[in-house]
Amino acid sequence: MRRNTIQKTAIEKVFRQHERPLGIDEVVTYGRELVKSLNQATVYRNLKILIEDGWLERIAHPVLGVLYERTGKGHHHHFYCRECDLTFDLPGCPVNEDDATPEGFIVEDHELFLFGICPSCD
Ligand SMILES: [Zn+2]
Ligand SMILES: [Zn+2]
Repeated sequence: MRRNTIQKTAIEKVFRQHERPLGIDEVVTYGRELVKSLNQATVYRNLKILIEDGWLERIAHPVLGVLYERTGKGHHHHFYCRECDLTFDLPGCPVNEDDATPEGFIVEDHELFLFGICPSCD
């Protein structure tokens, strides 16, 4: 069993406080408000541990690169606000895979990202 360090606990708290996918820079910024000694390397190491633990997962963001989000939310998609650069979870899935593909194609998975302006920036 791995020890729960104050750094790891702080990073978990950051994700609980911000219910949306976060980039590493955001985790460092918010995490430092809780534990001053946090730096990029510590955060990176702990994000890796949290992924191995199955508590976080990586998402490939089409604009921002890699973001991290909590696991266990089920199948869902994301909205990216071009004004504030934040990414939000969307509820459910609007994709009908059968309607989206011509005859003969077998769909195994899909990705969907919406872009626009969030309510705070509107
Ligand atoms: Zn916004
Ligand atoms: Zn979907």
